[in-house]
Amino acid sequence: MNDSPSTRRFAVVGNPVKHSRSPAIHEAFGRQTGIPLRYGLLESPLDGFARSVDGFFAQGGWGLNVTVPFKEEAHALCGTGLSERARLAGAVNTLWMQDGGLRGCNTDGVGLLADIARQGIDVAGKRVLLIGAGGAAKGVLFPLLEAGCARLRIVNRSAGRAQGLKDHLDAQLAEHAGKVSAGALDRAEGEWDIVINATSSSLAGEAPAIASARYAPGALAYDMMYGPHPTPFLVQARAAGAGHVADGLGMLVEQAAEAFFIWNGVRPDAGPVLAHLRSRMQGR
Ligand code: NDP
Repeated sequence: MNDSPSTRRFAVVGNPVKHSRSPAIHEAFGRQTGIPLRYGLLESPLDGFARSVDGFFAQGGWGLNVTVPFKEEAHALCGTGLSERARLAGAVNTLWMQDGGLRGCNTDGVGLLADIARQGIDVAGKRVLLIGAGGAAKGVLFPLLEAGCARLRIVNRSAGRAQGLKDHLDAQLAEHAGKVSAGALDRAEGEWDIVINATSSSLAGEAPAIASARYAPGALAYDMMYGPHPTPFLVQARAAGAGHVADGLGMLVEQAAEAFFIWNGVRPDAGPVLAHLRSRMQGR
């Protein structure tokens, strides 16, 4: 394809990356906003992330999304060019160049909160159970606290990793320390208004073992994973009494919308793109 001089080039860098839905999402945003762009897939060697990023921007690339397993490396690469969100998350999913330097932000938390708001639910004052302590969990911790949740409990298969996240939070945002607790998966006891699955357990066809958790009336169960059918976690949540269930496709589109805004200064409407992706995923 021949690009016009005004065509902006973007890509998602990861390994593996070929199943990413980011090109379809960003190209739809481009059509919607009238910004000419091309969005590709950049599979980086595991030991060559910095070279891949340098090469992309040296050839005039406008912006990069970063996915597994490079989000922490992208954070390290940005040095002093990190946004506050990225600094607190310890991970970067959006890169661009500004004033000759590499800049990085993390849009996962904004994406999650925007999608929860789409369900008509306000995080303020809610008791939140966050399952998982990997990169995705880390990216949404601070935004959940800043949105005013009343309590935040982090549980994880490896309890030490959940405690590590709590220690990180306590060190960075001491004013929230009293609201946050951490433990193993089987220590999820309590009644929760919002339960977020930030584990990859669905990949193994399993729901996380959180039998001690209770859903409050009307509670939301949110799985960051998504697919054409309800994930094992969402099936478990319905059976356990969750009033609302949602998967992470909306988060994916909303985090992309925020990255698009950072790069282009125009905020796309995520709703129609999400509806289109959902119907394609379900083969409609
Ligand atoms: P990581 O590899 O960093 O972390 C994986 C997490 O899952 C760890 O907490 C791990 O626990 C836990 N885990 C894995 N298998 C199981 C299991 N069988 N039972 C219980 N816990 C398990 O992954 P990420 O944090 O980057 O991603 C997590 C999920 O979130 C992925 O499925 C990813 O696709 C999704 N995601 C979705 C996004 C969206 O926009 N919708 C954005 C980002 C991520 P332990 O520490 O004990 O190993």
